[in-house]
This record gives sequence, C-alpha cells and structure tokens, in this order.
Amino acid sequence: MYTVSAIEMVEVSPRDGLQNEKRAISTADKLALIERAIDAGSRRIEVTSFVNPRAVPQMADADDVCAGLPHRDDVTYIGLVMNQRGAERALATGRIDQLGAVCVATDKFAMANQGQTSDGSVDAAKDIIKLAKENGKTAQATIGASFGCPFEGEVAEDHVVAMAISLAEAGPVEIALADTIGVGNPAHVASLVARVREAIEPIPVRVHFHNTRGTGLANVWAAIGAGASTVDASIGGLGGCPFAPGAAGNVATEDVTYMLERAGMSTGLDLGKLVATNHWLAGVMDKTLPAMVAKASPFPAAEEHRNSKEEEAV
Ligand code: ZN
Repeated sequence: MYTVSAIEMVEVSPRDGLQNEKRAISTADKLALIERAIDAGSRRIEVTSFVNPRAVPQMADADDVCAGLPHRDDVTYIGLVMNQRGAERALATGRIDQLGAVCVATDKFAMANQGQTSDGSVDAAKDIIKLAKENGKTAQATIGASFGCPFEGEVAEDHVVAMAISLAEAGPVEIALADTIGVGNPAHVASLVARVREAIEPIPVRVHFHNTRGTGLANVWAAIGAGASTVDASIGGLGGCPFAPGAAGNVATEDVTYMLERAGMSTGLDLGKLVATNHWLAGVMDKTLPAMVAKASPFPAAEEHRNSKEEEAV
C-alpha cells in the first residue's frame, strides 16, 4: 500500500463531463466552467476534444473554446484527440499544452470508437505523442476499456500491460487506465495499476473512473494505494461516453476531493468552490447532478456554525 501526501487531479468536466449531454452547452458556459475550475485550484484541465462534430456534436466548438481559454502559464490545457487530423487541429489552435491520445483495449470497442483495431489504436496514439513532441508540446495516453468492454466483456490484464509498455516507448508524460464503462472493482484496479506502474516506471499512472455501478470512489482509493499519482474527475459527476452504452458519470471532483483531503492527502483544490460550482452547473444543466458531497452539509462545519449550534444546545 502506497502512502502519499498529494494527489494530482485532472478536471475533465468540460470534455468527458459534457460530451454526452443532450442539452447543448454554450461556449460561454464551458469557458465559465473552466474559469471556475481554475479558481477552485485545478491546474490540469481537459478542455475539449478534437473529434468529428457529427459524432460528438457537444464538442463542435473546440476551436472557440480554445480561443477563449484564460492565459495562464500555471495551467495545463489538455485537448483529447483520436487521430492525426485531430492532433493537427489541436496544435493549430496554439492554446493546447498537452495532447491526450486515446487507445482502446479491445478490437470491437476500438472499431466503434475510432475505426481501428486495439493494436492500431496504440500505433495511432504513439504517432500522436510523437507529433506533440515534434511541436514542442507534451502528450499523454489513455487506455480506454482497461477494466472491461461493452462489446467483448472481460479484458485480459496482460493485454493492457503490453499496450502500456508499447505506449511508453513513445515517451508520454503519463499513461492512464480508463474504466470507460464503469465495471471496475477495487481488487482488479489495485492489481492492474500495480502491474502497469511497474511496467512503465518512471512514467506515472493516471486513472479515469466512471461511477456507473457505484465503485468509482473505491476504485480511486485502490488505484492510489497501488501507486497511481493522478486522478481524472468531473465536477458534479457529469459524464458519459457516446460510444459506451450505459456509461454513467465520471467520479465527481468534489467527492474525490472530500475523500482524499479528509484522508490527509492534498489535492490543491478548494472544496467549497467546487461545491459552489456544482450548484452553478446544476443551474446551467437544469438538473440535479450525481455528485454526493454537494447535497450534504459541510463537514466539519464552519467554526461559527458549530458555536451557534452549541449555544442552542445549551
Ligand atoms: Zn470517460
């Protein structure tokens, strides 16, 4: 079991959080969400994806989002890309600091997601990483469906480890294991994170969980115990995948932050500001968001609040 004092969080709400929402979210609201995330302490944000707008209409304004990003030297803006064309679009904005390449652990899902085999998706991700570096940017890679596939079912750990070793050859800043459809359990997560971490050291492992079956937070905890250093999360717990039937929201940034901070790990995030952003985003989306912490009263309560309660009790 690893013990760490700090965990890096990547805010994915502007991309993974919103991409599956039917309701069109304005570019201004996306930029407001990004600004609120920065104000709450986020320093790595997945701001958009450069994919075919016909496949993912919510991301059709990728260029406009990039044009409106706050100029912050201390924030890394990540753009998700599926192929060379997407990578070129992201680089052309001049505002994306880091490309996020995606490959998929099974052939059927890789075909549905990006029209290639699993091995083909690894080759494409490596080309994207190389292109980013040639252009003076960094890149990271995510292995989708690492813990299970909507089309093929169980995914062999050996295959995911082999993919990570191959990806590491291209020099990404980190490799992520994504539970795209939310089927992971903590024992599986602990095993696979430990194996991949050992296989790609010193490249760090990031994790990406969806809370489809309620195991999201348990999986985050297991991943950190096995040596993952970075966690993707989405304010409000929004999120789904247009190509993953039944996929529910990402683990919520405020819920992960509450758990980790209370457990003595620093996230760099301000829980109060995250909760305020949850309430703001619920208004924008016109619905209650899945995250838990924002529905509960703060704990521990603010000092004045606690004092007044004590006085009443006396
Ligand atoms: Zn996701």
